[in-house]
Amino acid sequence: MTPADLEFDKRHIWHPYTSMTQPLPTYPVESAEGVMLHLADGRQLVDGMSSWWAAIHGYNHPRLNQAAIEQIGKMSHVMFGGITHPSAIALSRQLVDMTPAGLECVFLADSGSVAVEVAIKMAMQYWQARGEKRQKVLTLRNGYHGDTFGAMAVCDPQNSMHSLYQGYLPDHLFAPAPQSRFDAPWNPQDIAPFAALLREHQHQIAAVILEPVVQGAGGMRMYHPQYLKQVRALCDEAGILLVADEIATGFGRTGKMFACDHAGIAPDILCVGKALTGGYMTLSATLTTRKVAETISNGDAGCFMHGPTFMGNPLACAVASASLSLLAENHWPLQVATIEAQLKAELTPLKQHSAVADVRVLGAIGVVEMRQPVDMARLQQHFVTQGVWIRPFGKLIYLMPPYIISSVRLSQLTQAIATALEVLYRES
Ligand code: PMP
Repeated sequence: MTPADLEFDKRHIWHPYTSMTQPLPTYPVESAEGVMLHLADGRQLVDGMSSWWAAIHGYNHPRLNQAAIEQIGKMSHVMFGGITHPSAIALSRQLVDMTPAGLECVFLADSGSVAVEVAIKMAMQYWQARGEKRQKVLTLRNGYHGDTFGAMAVCDPQNSMHSLYQGYLPDHLFAPAPQSRFDAPWNPQDIAPFAALLREHQHQIAAVILEPVVQGAGGMRMYHPQYLKQVRALCDEAGILLVADEIATGFGRTGKMFACDHAGIAPDILCVGKALTGGYMTLSATLTTRKVAETISNGDAGCFMHGPTFMGNPLACAVASASLSLLAENHWPLQVATIEAQLKAELTPLKQHSAVADVRVLGAIGVVEMRQPVDMARLQQHFVTQGVWIRPFGKLIYLMPPYIISSVRLSQLTQAIATALEVLYRES
């Protein structure tokens, strides 16, 4: 990559949530292998992000590469309308087998946000088919569900983009975020505001959507599984559909295959994405029960009204299927538990630092919450000079490395955070 390439990038290419006039630096990566990102200038960085929860098996994995190559030799894509193919069938079979009980109808979608759109549309069509006009979704503050309009409308109204699109977004219902922490005793009062909202609007609510146990981009909060259990019970009581957005938490990240497993519950609709393909390409899935699928199909529309061009993309399905086969070999529970123990041991002492508000760890997720928003450019630069790739946002410095990371590499990540506190947040 030449300086001219980087100049072109800066001038012509949008990056996520990045200004076109005052962009933060971008770091050119030429290749990646295992847990290492290889920069164009020869530096190597230990990856602490799994490319935003996705690359759970590490980069350039021989088995995933092989699956992609084999599939390309047959066909990269073929339309899914009126056609099916072995990779979609294999993948969907695996998903039905591994997800919580009752989820047996799989909609293959393009990205996490689209999976959420699909879930909300399913809930709306379900009630329409039952002859009821229900258009409200009940969700939690501090939630994050994606960047498309339907998904944005159920993100936290304060820390997301609601104000920018006011008047354009459907108006939904927001319960306060759960307060009982995952690792603290359950406070039975915690569910009360949610229960009150649900009862008050019971006949308008089509569905509840939430991120089970870990709220990701809306604050990296880890809440008590009892909250989820009670949400399930309240939804059952009221006949309201429960949508679990496991796009970030799915496939082992929290120490269980799905975060719903911490509470032993099954949703009516489940969204998965991100790690579904081991981080190789974009693909998501929205699974639902036979009851929801049949109700929708027996409604006036006669079918679920969604069908993207690249639905069931064979290349993505083949890699996803290989990724799920790797998970099925069951190395991940020990890997994630080992990462969790090390993150706890190495991050918890940072709580003593005066600039740190909180440290929390669950599964292969470690969060250092600062008292003030961080200077992202400065911190990012510090991390790169320390040989690690960690991308903080807001007040949060967090780690969610690939499951295959060694303890030495993981220590490099935690140590880089510790030195950042020492160097950039010197205590007086
Ligand atoms: N839901 C959750 C919980 C997520 O974390 C994300 C992505 N950060 C999304 C939905 C949206 O997924 P995508 O970026 O693939 O559209």
